[in-house]
Amino acid sequence: MAKLANFTPTILKNLFSKPATTTYPFEPFKYPEGTRGHIEIDIDNCIFCGMCTRNCPTRCLTVDKANYTWTINRFDCLACEYCTVVCPKKCLHTVEGYQEPMPEKSSVSYRKSEEAIAAEEEKKRIAAEKAKAAKEAALKKKAEEEAKAAAEAAAPAAETVAEAAEAAPAE
Ligand code: SF4
Ligand code: SF4
Repeated sequence: MAKLANFTPTILKNLFSKPATTTYPFEPFKYPEGTRGHIEIDIDNCIFCGMCTRNCPTRCLTVDKANYTWTINRFDCLACEYCTVVCPKKCLHTVEGYQEPMPEKSSVSYRKSEEAIAAEEEKKRIAAEKAKAAKEAALKKKAEEEAKAAAEAAAPAAETVAEAAEAAPAE
């Protein structure tokens, strides 16, 4: 009887409190705070610098700058989050929820949107035009400086010839 009396507060508490279990799947499952689910990328902000690939401890990332793609082998990812720390554009982040089950080990690729690619190409074109114009201007300036230096070097020689002609006795 004394033992039952000891349990009474616990029994009463459990009778009037919410169940400790969740009602999943009738309610969405809530991940505990700080859960490292999987890595996602905001691909349109990626500059394909490769910092994430070089620093990933499992080498599960690949970046293809020419084709604007970023690829992850989710089966090899440890969810250590180091790639999110080193990314200079902060376009990598950990999201709740684990990777989708797959029938075989494979990688997932993300490609920049066509709009973002077009904007990137336009930026490259403008930068290339600016570089070309700067190179042409530098070449032109150099040619002008060389021509000026040649003219200055030729001037004293011409003066010496004129002076010699003047000094020569008339016949
Ligand atoms: S570090 Fe960031 S910006 Fe660089 S390739 Fe990886 S995801 Fe893209
Ligand atoms: S979370 Fe860690 S293991 Fe996964 S891709 Fe990023 S750096 Fe690699």
